[in-house]
Amino acid sequence: MSDYAIARRRMVEEQVVARGVGDRRVIDAMLRVPRHLFVPEALAAQAYSDFPLPIGERQTISQPYMVGVMSEALQLTGGEKVLEIGTGSGYQAAVLALLARQVFSLERIPALARQARRILDACGFARVNVRVTDGTFGWEDEAPFDGIIVTAGAPSIPQSYRTQLAVGGRLVIPVGDRVSQVLMRVTRVSERDFREERLFGCRFVPLIGNHGWSEE
Ligand code: SAM
Repeated sequence: MSDYAIARRRMVEEQVVARGVGDRRVIDAMLRVPRHLFVPEALAAQAYSDFPLPIGERQTISQPYMVGVMSEALQLTGGEKVLEIGTGSGYQAAVLALLARQVFSLERIPALARQARRILDACGFARVNVRVTDGTFGWEDEAPFDGIIVTAGAPSIPQSYRTQLAVGGRLVIPVGDRVSQVLMRVTRVSERDFREERLFGCRFVPLIGNHGWSEE
């Protein structure tokens, strides 16, 4: 086993499973995706550490545990169509690609989307769809989605995400102020009804856009 594979196994055991993520499919996906290829080369040695890392453009790749717990919260079984807001490095999208049938991911910063596209292609995730746009509008042409995951902190839940969620589908989104948020799961229980759960506190970079925060 390579040093990276050993570090990856330790990461999953000590940071993800030990803290309560039990979904076997999520665990297997995180064991498979080479996280060190999704971070800047100079940071590869830290890729399996227990914290987010900078990826340029003042953005981050999320902490491994957060990827595990958010992926689990979507309760995917393999046949779903999923939308991610905030492609960033592309790592979360790669994990989702192993958990769902189709993955669509939106990123507002072109340079990050380009880099994510390169790595996703190189790692065999060419079928992940990446688009550069303000993701606070969702991806109307591809809706409805069985899962929507927002990897940036929102001031409130954009209406487009509720509208674009399939009945039975789940939206996982950090909601709060610019610095700290609560991770929310919103389940569309019927055409008109949504169940909202507050999962736990978290800290994400801001969701910037028309239905998010304004640029500083
Ligand atoms: N999921 C990413 C990963 O696996 O590396 C981490 C995402 S990073 C914490 C948040 C990302 O959301 C940043 O890349 C940021 O540019 C992006 N973002 C912020 N507001 C956005 C918006 N309105 N639409 C699309 N992307 C947005």
